[in-house]
Amino acid sequence: MPTPLRPSAAALAVALLLAAAAGLDARRQPAGPPPPPAALPAPVDRGAPLPGALSPRNANYTIEARLDAQTRTIEGRAEVAWRNISAAPTSELQWHLYWNAWRNSASTWLRGRALGGSARALLERPEADWAAIDITAIRLLGDGPPVDLLPSLRFLAPDDGNEHDRTLASVSLPSAVAPGETINIVIQWRARVPRTFARTGTIGRYFFLAQWFPKVAVLHDGGWRAHQFHSGTEFFSNFGAYDVSLRVPAGWVVGATGREQSREDNDDGTTTHRYVQHDVHDFAWTTSPDYLERTARFEHPTLPAVEMRLLLQPEHARQADRHFDATRAALRYYGEWFGPYPYGHITIVDPAWQSGAGGMEYPTLFTSGTRWLAPRGVTQPEGVTIHEAGHQFWYGIVANDEFEHAWLDEGLNTFSTARVIGEVYQPNHHAERFFGGFIPWVYRDIALSRAVDGNRVAGYRASATIDAQSTPSWQYYPGAGGALSYNKTALWLHTLERLLGWDTLQRILSTFFERFQFRHPTPDDFFRVANEVSGQDLTWFFDQVHRSSSTFDYGIADLTTGPAGIRGWVDGAAGREFRDGSSTEGRYETRVIVRRYGDAIFPVDVVVRFDDGEIVQERWDGRDRWQAYTFVRDARAVSAEVDPDRVLLLDLNVTNNSRTLAPRQREAATKWAAIWLVWLQDLLMTYGMFI
Ligand SMILES: [Zn+2]
Repeated sequence: MPTPLRPSAAALAVALLLAAAAGLDARRQPAGPPPPPAALPAPVDRGAPLPGALSPRNANYTIEARLDAQTRTIEGRAEVAWRNISAAPTSELQWHLYWNAWRNSASTWLRGRALGGSARALLERPEADWAAIDITAIRLLGDGPPVDLLPSLRFLAPDDGNEHDRTLASVSLPSAVAPGETINIVIQWRARVPRTFARTGTIGRYFFLAQWFPKVAVLHDGGWRAHQFHSGTEFFSNFGAYDVSLRVPAGWVVGATGREQSREDNDDGTTTHRYVQHDVHDFAWTTSPDYLERTARFEHPTLPAVEMRLLLQPEHARQADRHFDATRAALRYYGEWFGPYPYGHITIVDPAWQSGAGGMEYPTLFTSGTRWLAPRGVTQPEGVTIHEAGHQFWYGIVANDEFEHAWLDEGLNTFSTARVIGEVYQPNHHAERFFGGFIPWVYRDIALSRAVDGNRVAGYRASATIDAQSTPSWQYYPGAGGALSYNKTALWLHTLERLLGWDTLQRILSTFFERFQFRHPTPDDFFRVANEVSGQDLTWFFDQVHRSSSTFDYGIADLTTGPAGIRGWVDGAAGREFRDGSSTEGRYETRVIVRRYGDAIFPVDVVVRFDDGEIVQERWDGRDRWQAYTFVRDARAVSAEVDPDRVLLLDLNVTNNSRTLAPRQREAATKWAAIWLVWLQDLLMTYGMFI
């Protein structure tokens, strides 16, 4: 169909002309008040939630799928109603076919893995363990007979031109779809379920099926925001309503996005489970005959109740309450701090051992992860459960583009997870695992802290300069995504918390949540909210932590203290004379030199302690490469410290942050002896396992 001039654009043009004419008129009569701008229509926000809905619901799916567990195949059929919520017409539809990432050895996903050095075992898998997804029919429905779009299907490789990659496809439409217009498509496909790659697939009788159907890519005002599937990136999709009927062997347990509406047995020994969920941007499911099913409820005086369903591996039966408690903690604190969880139900999936399906988030359903031996006082499974439940908020509800800006959900979520653990699970301890992870050993003398361990300073330190965080996530150096998306963001958010106070940061996060729930915010949306809510221009901070790869490191370079008198030759009343430094009795001169070893700049406090108990605190803007402080006092200095409250969690070397002139030898000896003994004990224990 031809592209009409949109009514809103036409009205806008007329209004602008009228307004311009009015402006000219006003200039001729400067004494009068300016005319009211009533002629301007409000801009159309096609991405806004529909009336009565939480989200825009611009990609709605009715799916029928049948899993043949024996042959590991899925036959699927979907009716997709897709609305163009961008500002421009489009003559094509782009589709994600994620499972083709594991169709051949030359896919972009596997090339990425190979670049990161972790592809060898995957490439040597037997043929039966690989995946495929093929569109077998695709038709446009309309007033006349359906239009076959399959002949126009072609694969796209916008990121690297890889002709072997089939993870992104396009079909041409016979006429353009105007902004605001909806089209209906029927698509059929056949897929082979892989032995798990990237959390999706099967082992034994366990199936976890994510990114498993042809999914319409996101069309934004700038065009299609779609990439091939890369090994280091996650997902981005449209909000919609899902009505999905899943046919699986009778007696198998099914867990899925949404709530089960009906369950019908078929004559061929299968059962069809129908799940429905509105206002989500993805649909994942799992099935196995081996799950234990448990239910519990989340209740809170100011938040909506949530029914919790847990699908648990039989060997983890005793850990059910730990999964529920951790999910409750996430629903409670994320709900109180950011905003309520609106869906009323949530499913926790405990993946099968060696399934390769670790913690991962999907709407109203997530995979957790635990071990057979999970000692108390170590936050496993709690850590991963809180994190993945937390993704219902950051990414599930506030649905940023993870392809491009993974930090926006992963970083906010890593910070939030650590904060919940800090509230609920104290103390928690460091643990090491031996023998393939089976045997845990808990270091009860090493308590983990939210600041350092929860926000993962060690991981960040190793990769701090690899890429600027603003680099599109799919282009990060192989393996750097964890440090830059998760750790670095959590550290700079925690630094902001210490700089602005939790009340302000909490208001930034809750405002961001409220304003962008069921939408697709960008990093700039977050920065604007942070500036607005804090009442400060924090651009200097975001420029450094987000838009650059420079690092922070402040340190005490020198600390001296001694008699304040001059030692050496001076011009005195009786001519040149030599002074021995003792003439100002009882006065001492202390000199402190603070240096900025890193490229990045942050205001820091400098604290000097004196032997009469006095403490002097100076504020340094931290801009110059070094700063000297001189104090003349009745006491000698004992120590000097930069950033004593450790506001700057991004400081990569804290061992140079302080100097002392009175070493705490006793404490140091005790500390090192303890560390050495722990090490020896560990060694003997490991040895003991072999005899
Ligand atoms: Zn995550």
